[in-house]
Amino acid sequence: MTSPVAVAYRAVYASIASACDAAARPPSEVRLVVVSKTHDAETIRPVLAEGHRVFGENRVQEAKTKWPFLRQEFPDLELHLIGPLQSNKAAEAVALFDVIETIDRDRIAEAVAAEMKKQGRNPKLYVQVNTGLEPQKAGIAPADLKGFLIRFRNDFGLTVSGLMCIPPVEDDPRPHFALLRKLALENGITGLSMGMSADYALAIAEGATLVRVGSAIFGARG
Ligand SMILES: *Cc1c(COP(=O)(O)O)cnc(C)c1O
Repeated sequence: MTSPVAVAYRAVYASIASACDAAARPPSEVRLVVVSKTHDAETIRPVLAEGHRVFGENRVQEAKTKWPFLRQEFPDLELHLIGPLQSNKAAEAVALFDVIETIDRDRIAEAVAAEMKKQGRNPKLYVQVNTGLEPQKAGIAPADLKGFLIRFRNDFGLTVSGLMCIPPVEDDPRPHFALLRKLALENGITGLSMGMSADYALAIAEGATLVRVGSAIFGARG
């Protein structure tokens, strides 16, 4: 019998394809990051069995307990860090993740750059933007992005693959997605990580290239 998680995964996959269709975008432009935080390896397995390999975790520590083991079995995994990164976790993050989506300040950029050099690893890097200017939320303020990107490239020798945002829960997400796209265009950046279970179709309409979906696949987190 097909597991409920596999059924939900297929439904999300199909609905991403329809959202691409509606936005007149080729489905190949949008990648699904399945957010597996709080779920154990056995819960994730049905998605792996569907052939999916791109996953997101928001904590370095939690990711360390499940993914190195699964990677032995699935060497073509692509793991995204989507939660806040502390500079004292940079070494572990660089070792474990293929994409780090949450670079948002000089200290982190510097620590990640140093670790990349030391470990000879080359994860893709996204800069998180705090589009809602929420004090409790990670991300650089839109007004500070340009300056940060210059230091990112020139001082730290890093390449930015995209921008990422998490709109305020109480807001209409669409203007936030539109702002992120505008910032990316202004800065010559192509990757746009935006959209979660509740709003990924809207994000695709606004140009998302990565959508991060958890609860629509695994159910509500306990
Ligand atoms: C948890 C999380 C998601 C997934 O959220 P759902 O609403 O469960 O799809 C996406 N992005 C980030 C940064 C998250 O922390």
